[in-house]
Amino acid sequence: MAVIVKQVELSWLDRTYFWPIFKGMVITMRHFLRQITTRTKDRYTVQYPDMKREMPEGYRGLHELKRFEDGAIKCVACFMCAEACPARCITIRAEEFSDLNLTQGFEEKRPAIFKIDMLRCIYCGYCEEACPKDAIWLRKDYELAAYDRLSMQFGKWDLMNTYADVDGKARLTQESEKEIKIHHGDTESTEKR
Ligand code: SF4
Ligand code: SF4
Repeated sequence: MAVIVKQVELSWLDRTYFWPIFKGMVITMRHFLRQITTRTKDRYTVQYPDMKREMPEGYRGLHELKRFEDGAIKCVACFMCAEACPARCITIRAEEFSDLNLTQGFEEKRPAIFKIDMLRCIYCGYCEEACPKDAIWLRKDYELAAYDRLSMQFGKWDLMNTYADVDGKARLTQESEKEIKIHHGDTESTEKR
């Protein structure tokens, strides 16, 4: 149902812009004075980057593509996440896959390419909700920086390996990564950020 939002009329005082700036400065000064008059141990200062901020439950940060115990990707390239994505920032190319050695059994499809353009993503979490395989998670990690746009295109192996597991297990070493790629016949070269 459409909602009509009333436009707020600015008073002549607001239109001078001095009054809103003054009000903003009062708030800033209030915080400043409170900060310098509070005892050091009661101050809330995160010494970033040495200290990391604990993000609240439900925070939607960077993505991770989950794996099975044997290292195989959980994603079956069903395109549900890409369809649900309002920013159209997920690119998937599926490939057929039939490895009977997998502990998880036979899967018909997997992504040959899975890319997320982190610059277009709005971290809405729809991809996570749409996934029928619980294969894509939005983690609490929030640090994201690069020197060029291309580096913000996260590929399949970036999304699978960027983070340690939720239960604290270390991420896979490069050697075990190579073994998994050979075992699963993955021909895709590691997509570097
Ligand atoms: S979080 Fe939202 S915008 Fe980002 S990839 Fe998922 S569905 Fe798309
Ligand atoms: S991440 Fe989930 S929804 Fe997206 S293609 Fe893979 S299995 Fe389907």
